[in-house]
Amino acid sequence: MKIVKNISELRALLDSVRAEGKTIGLVPTMGALHEGHASLVRRSVAENDVTVVSIFLNPTQFNDKRDLERYPRTLESDCNLLRDCGATVAFAPSVDEVYPEPDTRQFSYPPTDAVMEGAFRPGHFNGVCQIVSKLFAWVEPTRAYFGEKDFQQIAVIRRMVEDLGFPLEIVPCPVVREESGLALSSRNNLLSDTERRAAAHIYHVLQWSIPFAKDHSVKQTHQFVVDCINAHPALEVEYYAIVDGKTLADINTWAETDFPVGCITVYCGQKPIRLIDHIRY
Ligand code: AMP
Repeated sequence: MKIVKNISELRALLDSVRAEGKTIGLVPTMGALHEGHASLVRRSVAENDVTVVSIFLNPTQFNDKRDLERYPRTLESDCNLLRDCGATVAFAPSVDEVYPEPDTRQFSYPPTDAVMEGAFRPGHFNGVCQIVSKLFAWVEPTRAYFGEKDFQQIAVIRRMVEDLGFPLEIVPCPVVREESGLALSSRNNLLSDTERRAAAHIYHVLQWSIPFAKDHSVKQTHQFVVDCINAHPALEVEYYAIVDGKTLADINTWAETDFPVGCITVYCGQKPIRLIDHIRY
């Protein structure tokens, strides 16, 4: 596996790959890699001739400076994991390489980027679109792999791909979870053992809400989830939204969509750590 830090080196390498008619899979990440990321990389390796994994802690998508400062940085072990997964290139550029000038572009794809994470983390999806559009332009992937862990992110990126006409396929990949049910996340490393156990409660409640939803309204199901999670002393719901899984618009009745999804953000523990998850009804 090659570790590449410069855009020019990356482009030269991929130009020759493309000239041979080979397919390229791209897996964008922010590092601190775990089995969730590994599942995306393995899928890309299985489906493409060459797999590029970007490792870039993108400052423009962090609206909270403290969150960026304490985000784990583990480049060496990340590269070991990628090598084991069979990745071809780890692209790990510096902030100056990616943003030699401040990126002033504004992306807007409502309602996908305006609701939920878009409302509670202003500017977050703009930063995501800035970095992902740059990566798409530099790598020109055949396919790009994204985890359903960040359910809303996929909807926003799909809109951006449509808007800017990138000729590539977005491949959504299922959430990888701990045995406890907790969705794997780089931020889980910041939780104490007790907080980690508390965090597992989030997915349990989401699962309990599936049979509950069968004979209750959207509003009652919403209340059930919020109350059950907030009943735990270490957890506090920031928002829970039951939406159409494609448009991300709120629904009021189950009959409104054949793809109802509940999206949640919860603060866990003392620091506190912000965790997201979702469930399909
Ligand atoms: P991140 O490094 O958090 O930006 O994540 C990079 C990619 O890995 C994103 O597409 C995430 O959705 C995906 N990802 C992160 N955690 C998981 C997980 N537990 N299961 C599946 N995909 C994940």
